[in-house]
Amino acid sequence: MGKMPPDLREMLTELIAIPSVSSVDPALDQGNRAVVERLAEWLEGMGFACELQPVPDAPDKANLIATLGRGDGGLVLAGHTDTVPYDDTGWASDPFTLSERDGRLYGLGTSDMKSFLGLVLEAARGLKASDMKQPLVVLATADEESGMTGAKALVDAQRRIGRHAVIGEPTNLRPVYMHKGILMESIRIRGRSGHSSDPSLGCSALEGMVRVLNDIVAWRQQLQSKNADPRFSVPVPTLNLGHIHGGDNPNRICAHCELQIDIRPLPGMDLEELRETLRQRIGRVLGEEGLALELHSLFPGLPAMETPAEATIVRAAEALTGSQAEAVAFGTEGPYLRDLGMDVVILGPGDIAQAHQPDEFLAVNRLQPTVDMLRELIHRFCLTPAVEDGA
Ligand SMILES: [Zn+2]
Repeated sequence: MGKMPPDLREMLTELIAIPSVSSVDPALDQGNRAVVERLAEWLEGMGFACELQPVPDAPDKANLIATLGRGDGGLVLAGHTDTVPYDDTGWASDPFTLSERDGRLYGLGTSDMKSFLGLVLEAARGLKASDMKQPLVVLATADEESGMTGAKALVDAQRRIGRHAVIGEPTNLRPVYMHKGILMESIRIRGRSGHSSDPSLGCSALEGMVRVLNDIVAWRQQLQSKNADPRFSVPVPTLNLGHIHGGDNPNRICAHCELQIDIRPLPGMDLEELRETLRQRIGRVLGEEGLALELHSLFPGLPAMETPAEATIVRAAEALTGSQAEAVAFGTEGPYLRDLGMDVVILGPGDIAQAHQPDEFLAVNRLQPTVDMLRELIHRFCLTPAVEDGA
């Protein structure tokens, strides 16, 4: 039935030491079960009720939902337990050995973001279920870095787990209340090859792609003139033409061409609507000229997130950090927690510039301020909640 967690430094050492790489490449993918099982053991020792929620079709992945106290409101402190793959040649020390140098803790997942979960446990140390007016929930998710299947499993279960949430992704301890979404789509055109000397011998996929490219650039213009939000540093939705490949030889009619694009929609722009518009537009410009079109999504897509700026959790995070909540350019599991009825702030000790890099680190002087801030949040939302914080 669990055991008390060791001191903070030892918790961080153990969390970093357990490999939990997520990757769409099955050869690199490791699952996160060992991390959530270790967290559950510690949290049970602290009196939390722990539930491991399996992720469909991934026996080595699970979410952990650990709850102390009861009630309809409550605070969810959330983080993903997986990391990105690492490049071992770029690291000055072993990525799975927490190493302190120059006031920094180096290791894979220090900034993004296993350390946050250790800091949450440190902040919750000593709490008793009988003291909780509203529950404190520690949510540790699987698979954020590849398919977000952990967050999706939570949404599919449609269980209410809390009212206010903080996701400790790296934000330099500045609150974030909105971010854009992400779509990555592939457009493939198939024609017919033939000798270049006589165009009637084939049907050029590349010439079809020229019309598609022109149309996509025109569509971007329309999207940007109709949608803007000055709260983002890039206030319009972006559409990047990121990759193109087609044909093989100058003297052959091009039979295949593929374009990959990245779209970053603003809050309120529906991912499925964007995909459908793209499909219709391209179908129209290609017409009936013997070119086959194939569209597919390179990843499932991530919706944009927006929590109302006046939400209690946003105001509380601003007051505690002394920083006004911001909009950022990276995606999180936030929109899925929003779907479950939570007001979400992204707020964590790491730096996004350190994430997904060799020699990822977390500054030692971020540890105590984070623990202090989390204790204040627990106090405000779980020990002395205002009436309006409830359901
Ligand atoms: Zn992350």
